[in-house]
Amino acid sequence: MQVHPARIRPLGFTPPKPGPVVLWMGRDQRADDNWALLHAAALAKAAGAPLFALFALPPDFPPATARHADFLLRGLAAVETALRDHGIPLALVPGDPAVAVPAFLRRVRAGVCVTDFDPLRPGRAAREAVATAPVWDGALLEVDAHNVVPAFVASAKREYAAATFRPKILKLLPEFLEPFPDLPAFAAGNLAGFAPVDWEAARAGLVLDPSVAPVAGITPGPEAAREALAAFLADRLPAYADRRNDPNAGATSTLSPWFHHGHLAPQRAALDALEAKKRAPAGAEAFLEELVVRRELADNYCLHEPAYDTLAALPAWAQKTLGAHAADPRPYRYTAREFETAATHSALWNAAERQLVRQGRLHGYMRMYWAKKILEWSATPEAALATALSLNDRYALDGSDPSGVAGVLWSVGGLHDRPWASRPVFGQIRYMNARGCRRKFDVDAYIARHGGGAADHNGEVA
Ligand SMILES: Cc1cc2nc3c(=O)[nH]c(=O)nc-3n(C[C@H](O)[C@H](O)[C@H](O)COP(=O)(O)OP(=O)(O)OC[C@H]3O[C@@H](n4cnc5c(N)ncnc54)[C@H](O)[C@@H]3O)c2cc1C
Repeated sequence: MQVHPARIRPLGFTPPKPGPVVLWMGRDQRADDNWALLHAAALAKAAGAPLFALFALPPDFPPATARHADFLLRGLAAVETALRDHGIPLALVPGDPAVAVPAFLRRVRAGVCVTDFDPLRPGRAAREAVATAPVWDGALLEVDAHNVVPAFVASAKREYAAATFRPKILKLLPEFLEPFPDLPAFAAGNLAGFAPVDWEAARAGLVLDPSVAPVAGITPGPEAAREALAAFLADRLPAYADRRNDPNAGATSTLSPWFHHGHLAPQRAALDALEAKKRAPAGAEAFLEELVVRRELADNYCLHEPAYDTLAALPAWAQKTLGAHAADPRPYRYTAREFETAATHSALWNAAERQLVRQGRLHGYMRMYWAKKILEWSATPEAALATALSLNDRYALDGSDPSGVAGVLWSVGGLHDRPWASRPVFGQIRYMNARGCRRKFDVDAYIARHGGGAADHNGEVA
């Protein structure tokens, strides 16, 4: 089956040449349900050419923690097994992708390289560098394998909010929410010359911060991701409708670390959720809104906003109101280090930070509260933004993702939101506090589970 042509766009002007086809895997690390791989396989089959997969790993890839390296490498090892079962070798090349990828393409004399889509700056810079690298002159094609509706098709501009983006996505879903074909197999000879990756050696070559330890209780890789999706849809989808904002309820999918590493296609989750819709219509509807509309809105934002991780990217009303309240006295003021070590006065906030640090995840509702309090208790909005982004990316297994960028900017700066009644520090940015949390869920149970630490409560835990 042909991949929908609108999912594919050339990067650079070089036409395809004869020679092997290479899939340069970036954001989408899986063998099944991968439009970039399916397109690479179709090109290789049509030309009778070999197909190789490639992953480039800089020794100090950010955030370079033991936690992220563990998830990444174990996930890639599982992907390698699945690829080799289809006769496709995976090459792991160390180094900066901008240099290591063209060098590999030249070495194997690739005629075409297919890569996936990544709207964040490092991924885009690497793709641009490969497209223009003087050492290799084949064609580089980009396939959006992460979004149901390709980000460059969904909208040609930065959308103001979910309300403006949703109608565009819903209109295009019938065309793009299609079933995935199977990945074709290649003859065993296609593996010739490629020994399996030495994952221990790969790990040893990384420069990692060991203080952020791997997380127990979550298995990386596509198989574990599919099991987690099936368990969520079978057991928790009905509760997603009205209990997803309760961090004690366990009602959300917890799939974001696998989505972030591309172990699971959001489109697979959407197709399976649609199947489950008859059983749990309200749960499926709410899940699809987050999975497709909100997640793809975050990609739209990062694709079309070059300054996506700065306050300068915020809508004019938000910049104005934050500026007007920049000098407001703060009830508490903490440094990035105090936030990181959960040393605030608030037991609830400390519990959220501890969950993030220990488990590498934070419930979505708590994430909003967590980031909004960083705004309230930082010296400036700029400092708050820097702290929230860096802690999120350093500890969360799903960090360094467009959804994280958009989530932090939403919380701290009103991105994709509207002005609310004005109050100190926040101005018209939407406010959240512990009393609101207490109305929504059992705050004491949450603190007991994650540990609030020394806190005077001081109104924060009402
Ligand atoms: C301050 C802050 C930081 C965040 N950081 C990240 C991050 O680093 N990585 C990340 O993937 N998400 C981030 N989010 C978005 C959201 O909180 C998480 O995607 C969600 O909590 C993940 O849990 P889940 O898989 O159980 O989600 P579910 O509720 O089960 O949702 C299913 C999927 O939909 C997507 N999704 C859900 N909510 C959102 C949202 N608000 N915006 C965009 N996509 C969404 C995710 O892919 C998620 O896995 C952040 C939000 C905030 C407010």
